[in-house]
Amino acid sequence: MPDPRFVYDFDEPSHGGRELLGGKGSGLAEMTQMGVPVPAGFTITTDACRAYMSNGKALPEGLDEEIDAHLAALENKTGKRFGDAADPLLVSVRSGAAVSMPGMMDTILNLGLNDEAVQGLARVTGNERFANDSYRRLIQMYGEVVDGIAAHRFEQELTDLKEMRGVAQDVDLSAADLAELIGTYKQIYEEEVGSGFPQDAREQLRRAVRAVFESWDAPRAQVYRRTYGIADDLGTAVNVVQMVFGNKGDESGTGVAFTRDPSTGEPGLYGEFLANAQGEDVVAGIRTPQPLARMEQKLPRAFEQLLETMRRLEEHYRDMQDIEFTVEDNELYLLQTRSAKRTAAASVKAAVDMVEEGLISREDAVARIDPGQLDQLLHPMLDPTAEWEVAAKGLNASPGAASGKIVLDADTAEQRGKAGEKVILVRWETTPDDIHGLIQAAGILTAHGGMTSHAAVVARGMGKPCVAGCDALSIDIDARTIALGDETLSEGDVLTIDGGTGAVIVGEVPLVPPQVNDDLETILGWGDEHRRLKVRANADTPEDAAKAREFGAQGIGLCRTEHMFMADDRLPVVREMIMASNEEGRRAALDKLLPMQQSDFEAIFQAMAGLPVTIRLLDPPLHEFLPPLEQAKDERMRSRIKQLQESNPMLGTRGCRLGLQWPEIYEMQVRAIVRAAGAVEERNGEAPLVEIMHPLVAFEEELRRMRELTVQVAEQEAPEVEYLCGTMIELPRACIRADEIAEQADFFSFGTNDLTQTALGFSRDDAEGKFLTHYLEDGVLEKNPFETLDVSGVGDLMRIAVDRGRSTKPDLKLGICGEHGGEPKSVAFCHELGLDYVSCSPYRVPLARLAAAQAALAESGAVAYAGAGG
Ligand code: PEP
Ligand code: MG
Repeated sequence: MPDPRFVYDFDEPSHGGRELLGGKGSGLAEMTQMGVPVPAGFTITTDACRAYMSNGKALPEGLDEEIDAHLAALENKTGKRFGDAADPLLVSVRSGAAVSMPGMMDTILNLGLNDEAVQGLARVTGNERFANDSYRRLIQMYGEVVDGIAAHRFEQELTDLKEMRGVAQDVDLSAADLAELIGTYKQIYEEEVGSGFPQDAREQLRRAVRAVFESWDAPRAQVYRRTYGIADDLGTAVNVVQMVFGNKGDESGTGVAFTRDPSTGEPGLYGEFLANAQGEDVVAGIRTPQPLARMEQKLPRAFEQLLETMRRLEEHYRDMQDIEFTVEDNELYLLQTRSAKRTAAASVKAAVDMVEEGLISREDAVARIDPGQLDQLLHPMLDPTAEWEVAAKGLNASPGAASGKIVLDADTAEQRGKAGEKVILVRWETTPDDIHGLIQAAGILTAHGGMTSHAAVVARGMGKPCVAGCDALSIDIDARTIALGDETLSEGDVLTIDGGTGAVIVGEVPLVPPQVNDDLETILGWGDEHRRLKVRANADTPEDAAKAREFGAQGIGLCRTEHMFMADDRLPVVREMIMASNEEGRRAALDKLLPMQQSDFEAIFQAMAGLPVTIRLLDPPLHEFLPPLEQAKDERMRSRIKQLQESNPMLGTRGCRLGLQWPEIYEMQVRAIVRAAGAVEERNGEAPLVEIMHPLVAFEEELRRMRELTVQVAEQEAPEVEYLCGTMIELPRACIRADEIAEQADFFSFGTNDLTQTALGFSRDDAEGKFLTHYLEDGVLEKNPFETLDVSGVGDLMRIAVDRGRSTKPDLKLGICGEHGGEPKSVAFCHELGLDYVSCSPYRVPLARLAAAQAALAESGAVAYAGAGG
């Protein structure tokens, strides 16, 4: 036998686990060794598949002999011979990768049958119909999987035959009908392949094993792996399993079952059963199965055995299981067990119940919830029982689903939204100018822009669904129509978007409401006991702040003051300030803004009493507050817009560069902050914890000057108010020179949106709709770096900044407020970096709490890392 071995029997220990045996193989081996009824068989390892792939698609040396040896052992166990004409041993060949990829790879049943053996099988079982049915299935599956014959060629013949016989179901075809079908199938096989259906059982097996290896590389499997971030080099195992027959008659059948309800987590058996059928009939949906409860009446003994087996499996795996089984002549056999895919609601309920049942610890419960899935609980979703067709896809920019009438501009959105209509704002992209429309819209759809585009960031902050960067969308604003690919829709037509998947659907789809419940609170509470990272929220309004607090936020990590500048009553004054031709004019306008900003800050401090609030001074380029050139109201405005125009505004006059050029703007903001803090302290008797943050700092000198301005204004205005003065770290230079910058800063907050943009040289406004989509589809990059932190690049810059910043000030407070602060894998990285907190949109606070708890648990070694960060 070659070393390393490529084949293991189910009843011998391999120590290789699912990486070596695949999920199905390790499950079958484990069940066999527990004494659960499983057909006999063996697994050809993923090592063999990898060797096949790297060997120029040749089976590794010695594999054939090894398979023969295990086949001989299988023959001994079953007392039958493979290829025997009188009483043949039949096997199935089933794929099984380490990571479950449901339905992606191939299975072939009934291998070992040929023209003679089918008669032998008929004789020993006394059931000719069953034998013929098994053989015609083999020819079909083998033809499809091994030789690539189109399924419809076989299906059509089956349908025609049923029609000719006037029967509705496959089971109503007679033995003679099936014999005729075998003849037709063999003819199809010969026509397509150019030679007859192979009669040699060993040749069938060899080619089937090779076909399963090949299916790892099938386009659909590649797409699936890309979608779910599964590595391409894992390979699949192949399981060769003695056939058990669910299609032997009325005492036989096949089914699938869950140990708890996969949509709610409620205890009890859930599943489907089909009498007198083979497994693929259920999976392929060819016949409509019955609820599992019906099995109790039809096959009571096997049903009892099934209940007992499932109880044992849950106890053994300490998790909800999803199984496949077959009953042959009243005998139960398990063909597969795996951890059940389930909704977020079911995950949470089952985990809490299992802690109460003593099956798992609280730490296990915290570790096994996928934080990414929590979005499902906090937003309305498309009703999974409804049917719909996806008309176009964009980026899943902000989770939740919404249906509403199409509106094409923010004013209309505001007007109709206020009138109580549900509207979806559809734009090429949104700008801060659209904020009033965004507030009233039920959802947002844009043709341009990525995960950190304006629409995406604002929608996430508001907890509204958003699909961004939808390539297939174009808008004809004059005709008031949109096109989604070939389909044209008018303003007022109904559209549904699913911001969790990026799907755009024409017409209304029923929604299911969010399901925040006590079980989730319980799990988050258990997690909080272990969490080291604090979780704050990015919130710009008192309403957002209150929402964030409800979700457990421990402060505000980013209040973007520009969003306040956009409100209806502010924008004209802001424009007046921008249009002013001198400092005096600007100051006059800023004086009007001061009380407005002060009242905003007071309300936010009030909502977050006792918790820290980081207020960031004005960041975006000023042109964002002016209308587009063609909408300028006069020549003066037109010329000012032109003056402010820049080719690369994101690299232009923004951030602290504004404050350095027009200090009066930041002076007004600092004044408003400290006045508000003083007022709230007087009112509450408790001082708010104020943090003033300067954006887009690259040089120590920039921050030194801005700190000086901050201190001067605060001293002069409200010397008694305490505050911290810090900076965003969002430029590579700031990371590299963090030791110098830390001299001027009480805290750093990583702005990973801009840091990703500037470190990678990827425009955060354009990349996702353009080359980045191609990069992701083509596998140049595995993940969108604006969504999941580029740990090895941007993450390294952060590590440098942490080390250098703390080398100057060991107690420097460190946080992150870019969108990554609410993404589970990035949160895990922030934990590892030793940041003090992450800050994210209010609706992502629960998932950040969970991800942070999981990171702490993984570090302490209390549980294996089960969360998305692992
Ligand atoms: C950032 O750049 O990561 C950030 C939080 O700031 P903004 O998104 O407002 O530029
Ligand atoms: Mg930024």
